[in-house]
Amino acid sequence: MLTDIKSMNLSELIAYLTDNGFEKFRAKQVLTWIKQDARSFDDMTNIPAKLREFLKKNTYLAKAQIVRVQRSKIDDTIKYLYQLYDGEYVEGVLMRYHHGLSVCISTQVGCKMGCTFCATGKSGFSRSLTASEMIAQIRSAELDVGERISNVGLMGMGEPFDNYDNVIRFLKLVSSEDSLHIGMRHITISTCGIVPRMRDFADLQLQCGLSVSLHAPDDEARSRTMPINRRYPIAEVIAASKYYVDKTNRRISFEYALISGENDSDNHARSLSELLSGMLCHVNLIPVNNVTGAGYQKSTLKRQNAFVNILAQAGINATVRRTLGSDIDASCGQLKRNFMKGDV
Ligand code: SAH
Ligand code: SF4
Repeated sequence: MLTDIKSMNLSELIAYLTDNGFEKFRAKQVLTWIKQDARSFDDMTNIPAKLREFLKKNTYLAKAQIVRVQRSKIDDTIKYLYQLYDGEYVEGVLMRYHHGLSVCISTQVGCKMGCTFCATGKSGFSRSLTASEMIAQIRSAELDVGERISNVGLMGMGEPFDNYDNVIRFLKLVSSEDSLHIGMRHITISTCGIVPRMRDFADLQLQCGLSVSLHAPDDEARSRTMPINRRYPIAEVIAASKYYVDKTNRRISFEYALISGENDSDNHARSLSELLSGMLCHVNLIPVNNVTGAGYQKSTLKRQNAFVNILAQAGINATVRRTLGSDIDASCGQLKRNFMKGDV
């Protein structure tokens, strides 16, 4: 198996090269080429042919090559379909906010979690991504638009905490000067609530944001749309969320897709208020995107407003998220789905 050289940090690369009989300083040279987006070892003109041959034989340069682009006509949102080195596809979405460019990247090809409202959850699971493949998605988007990306969300395809080690490696690498140097404060992880990993993550005390996909205020409703809830029920997810807030002193976010007649009643809003009462948190309400053929409809504007008002009255910080790129199906999982069906 070839070694994923772009997932290594400087000290690992030094160890790898010196173990194989090359000089220590070559590591920095190789990293500099990687930073300059070298596509092949032949581009690395200042390293000796012997080292280039060794790298070609034993390692590979991970990539996330943009193969399809959808640009929104109503805002600046861009959706990318990336091809990985082994031919697999994942998606990313680039959004322009007043504070800069933000990209939402994928952490797995598909997802094992099977949430009923999610296009990715319906597409099965193929494999997890390496740290270098997560970085490559950001870098390819930067090169496409010719601008630096300031914020990153691990909110594309896949469950980040089902790929924990690679995600932590990614966070450490991407925030370092040897890589893209994007500070952890500018990165947010979204999880469906893999409780033990949420606690591990809190223990690391990284300054990275955490967003928890809740989507229902009680076990009965949540288990209906999110099978993971049968393994890690709401009480455990909330306890782990509080643990994260205590450990990091950071506000936590909860994602709540409003599905008409499913989780958007006044009672649901009241239960949600009780559940989150007193916690340092923010609730993102997202009118559900009907993509899986499960027949889900967005809550009406009236219900969206009623829901957010009940939360506000209970002192819970909540907003209905404006949906960017609604004309290009900017929720991850959909471009790939259409692409595989031959529609794009
Ligand atoms: N697996 C992680 C991160 C990827 S999903 C997680 O579940 O959190 C990113 C976000 O999109 C999650 O909050 C997810 O619940 C939400 N999502 C997925 N499909 C959606 C849909 N059809 N409508 C609205 N939100 C959706
Ligand atoms: Fe996986 Fe997240 Fe989709 Fe659920 S919502 S299936 S956890 S990607």
